[in-house]
Amino acid sequence: MKYSGSYIFRGALLGATQFWRVSRVFSMNDLREVTFRFYGDLKRFLPQGKRTGAFTYAVKGSPAVKDTIEALGVPHGEVDGLVINGRSVGFYEPVKGNDTIAVYPDSSKIRLRKIKRLKPKLPANPKFILDVHLGKLTRHLRLLGFDCLYQRSYKDQDIVETTLSQRRIVLTRDVGLLKNKLIKFGYFIRHTEPDKQIREVITKFSLSFKTKPFHRCLECNGLIRRISFLRVINHLPPKVSKYYKEFVTCRICGRVYWKGSHYKQLLKVVKRISV
Ligand SMILES: [Zn+2]
Repeated sequence: MKYSGSYIFRGALLGATQFWRVSRVFSMNDLREVTFRFYGDLKRFLPQGKRTGAFTYAVKGSPAVKDTIEALGVPHGEVDGLVINGRSVGFYEPVKGNDTIAVYPDSSKIRLRKIKRLKPKLPANPKFILDVHLGKLTRHLRLLGFDCLYQRSYKDQDIVETTLSQRRIVLTRDVGLLKNKLIKFGYFIRHTEPDKQIREVITKFSLSFKTKPFHRCLECNGLIRRISFLRVINHLPPKVSKYYKEFVTCRICGRVYWKGSHYKQLLKVVKRISV
């Protein structure tokens, strides 16, 4: 029996875009069945219908297990343990017919079963880089003192290069980004509401004892330092210089902050989002 799969390729020729269809024929004999079981909240990444218990899946040839689990929708950055036929393996173990594959997130289950952990050890003081959809979460994290890079202009490649060079944890709502093999530290933000997102990050990375509110500029991530009244007086609105005498400034962008009504609002936010 033959199976015909068709693929559409797009190409450009002398400035014009052409589309053409090619057919590729392969034998059903090339496909081999394996059995998968995903644990914990890794199931959320799977297609509906594959989220309860074990299921079979057809693979062609002997692909790396990383590629197979990502083809099913689960980014490797979320996976902390892989067991094939009872043996703990790495991401590049080839998948063969009749394999039984268990895929674990980082959880107590994996520790109890003494499975080799695949996620690299996180730095003691984690630093983050966030994708373009997480501006509010960035401000909340900075408000609590955490080092977070964020630019609306970030391309995926910018994020990948920065996480590599600075060992930053990528926080994202983009599953596709986490499938990039160069990303070693990555986490998919489950929640969509900013208050829940910040609590999620604090819990996930055990940050509750590491918060330092008002130590970082909300706009540029720079550290804050005190500055004397005399040095800023000429740059302040008259009402501010009349009522406030204590000021801090960002070491990078030079913004000046004081404890006005906005500060009181932020205090409420800190109280609300602290876990
Ligand atoms: Zn700043």
